[in-house]
Amino acid sequence: NKISFLYQFDFYIIGDNMNIIFANWKMNKSVEEAIAFINDLNNNVSEFGDDEIIISPPFTTLSEISKIKDDKIKLCAQNMYFEDKGAFTGEISPLMAKEFCEFVLIGHSERRHIFKEPNQLINKKVLSALSHGLKPILCVGETEDERKKKKTDSVLETQLKACLKNVSENQIKNVMVAYEPVWAIGTGKTATPEQAQEAHAFIREFLTDMYSQTTIRQLILLYGGSVKSDNAAELIKEKDINGFLIGGASLDPQLFTEIIKNSK
Ligand code: PEP
Repeated sequence: NKISFLYQFDFYIIGDNMNIIFANWKMNKSVEEAIAFINDLNNNVSEFGDDEIIISPPFTTLSEISKIKDDKIKLCAQNMYFEDKGAFTGEISPLMAKEFCEFVLIGHSERRHIFKEPNQLINKKVLSALSHGLKPILCVGETEDERKKKKTDSVLETQLKACLKNVSENQIKNVMVAYEPVWAIGTGKTATPEQAQEAHAFIREFLTDMYSQTTIRQLILLYGGSVKSDNAAELIKEKDINGFLIGGASLDPQLFTEIIKNSK
């Protein structure tokens, strides 16, 4: 009994049977490897059903992938800076991301923890993405220590409040939130369906303090953290889980397609 989405995601409407399955390749794959993956996935689009499949590859592969991918496959930038252009060595701008991508991943836990990105910077990126017509996928989540200390809710609250500061009611309709407990990313430890649902329900509830209930009921919430083909089926049954953000298991087209099949 999932809620019925009538999500004005520009041109398409997300229905009951539609989940978002998101592949985060992180810093993996050469152009040749990326092309081989996409050719393989192109042959499996019949498995997508109503699902929205989003691939977030390294920047260096975006140009080639965009030329060969099936229209049903959408592209996402793994990160971006908030300025349009200038002396920001090593960064890419929203304008550059927009040349190939509809989406941009913002505030991934690896950006927060390895590259020390604070909530305030993440907020600037979210606002910049939205102002350029890119759809941000905002990642939030607690560390193992924070969970042990029963701080999960307060961490999520702080991250959401700060990262979505000044995001309007209209703009939030173009944002997805990914709940990614840091202790579950790349560790093989998955949140139980109950733990994930509890956090997702909390996020939805908390956001109704910032936005209208109607809007937040339609907000897409992804779960990320060691999702594999054997745990996807159980997780997706949860009412507030509308899709997955997948790292390790998204690198192999067959494993990734298995997850798509098991997420129905
Ligand atoms: C991620 O990249 O956000 C992620 C959830 O990775 P993994 O699936 O490998 O845990």
